[in-house]
Amino acid sequence: MNELISIVVPMYYEEQVAQECYNRLKSVMTEHNINHEFIFINDGSQDKTMDILRKLAADDFCVKVIDFARNFGHQNAVTAGIDFAKGDAIVIIDADLQDPPELIPQLIQKWKEGYQVVYAKRKARKGETFFKLVTARYFYRFLNNMSDIEIPKDTGDFRIIDKKVAGVFKRMTERNRFIRGMISWVGFNQTYIEYERDERFAGETKYPLKKMLKFASDGIFAFSSKPLRLVTNLGLLTVLISIGLLLYSIIVKIIGYNIEAGWASIMVAISFFSGIQLLSLGIIGQYIARIYDESKNRPMYIVKEQLNMDELSEYEEE
Ligand code: UDP
Ligand code: MG
Repeated sequence: MNELISIVVPMYYEEQVAQECYNRLKSVMTEHNINHEFIFINDGSQDKTMDILRKLAADDFCVKVIDFARNFGHQNAVTAGIDFAKGDAIVIIDADLQDPPELIPQLIQKWKEGYQVVYAKRKARKGETFFKLVTARYFYRFLNNMSDIEIPKDTGDFRIIDKKVAGVFKRMTERNRFIRGMISWVGFNQTYIEYERDERFAGETKYPLKKMLKFASDGIFAFSSKPLRLVTNLGLLTVLISIGLLLYSIIVKIIGYNIEAGWASIMVAISFFSGIQLLSLGIIGQYIARIYDESKNRPMYIVKEQLNMDELSEYEEE
């Protein structure tokens, strides 16, 4: 095997798993004689993660490290890894060993068969809360209903991508990133292998509800303009309802009934329509916020330090 495989691993407060992650990855690489480089990204963790990475980089020249100036989030960390990767193919994997490194040879195998993207699809998920299982399941179904492209269900970022795909990916500079969707969007020959997702090796999830919601909304708003169409339809519906009400009151007046003006009906109407208005403004706001983020044109991440990298990336601070 002569192809170089880059392994991209984002880390955020992973001092409990960093060493084990390296050990497992390294033994798979040596066992299968894979020419490799590791790109570990410290996404602004303030614990011992960076110390461990520093030590790994000093002992093994295959270990390249990017240290972010602050927490930029999982998706930006993976983006940095892809930007810096030199491999003929790039594997994206979580640090917590929920994605078994032992599957990497299978991913590489499929890639060699001529697929430019091979993602790993979860058959089962161990050690996840009921809440996470249910929300994840329905999220992907909802997302596929909403979005304009097909995004594989029950799939994380664990996958291998060809350097051609990475090249296209680098040209996609959108700020609020939803990588699994972006990679589907690219096209090429894509396939998957199935696996059972393990429990986290140690530590806790770095995706609290707030980050999950942000991530979910990036998936929806970046890949669909259906919410805007929905709002338009709601607007049309309310116009129709109000025309109906107008006609009704005119007819009632002409016929001569003197109906008592009802407090309840007015309150219901006011709260219903103001609810719809706020919802619509919120949805429009989601898109505007994203346009605003793009127009600022800030870097997606800031590198504080890099280890074992032979040349400066375009993102390196002067
Ligand atoms: N992660 C990151 N930055 C963040 C949050 C998470 O780099 O702001 C990394 C984390 O260290 C892990 C991966 O992203 O390697 C997935 O996170 P986690 O396992 O906590 O998510 P879960 O599996 O619970 O969805
Ligand atoms: Mg995890």
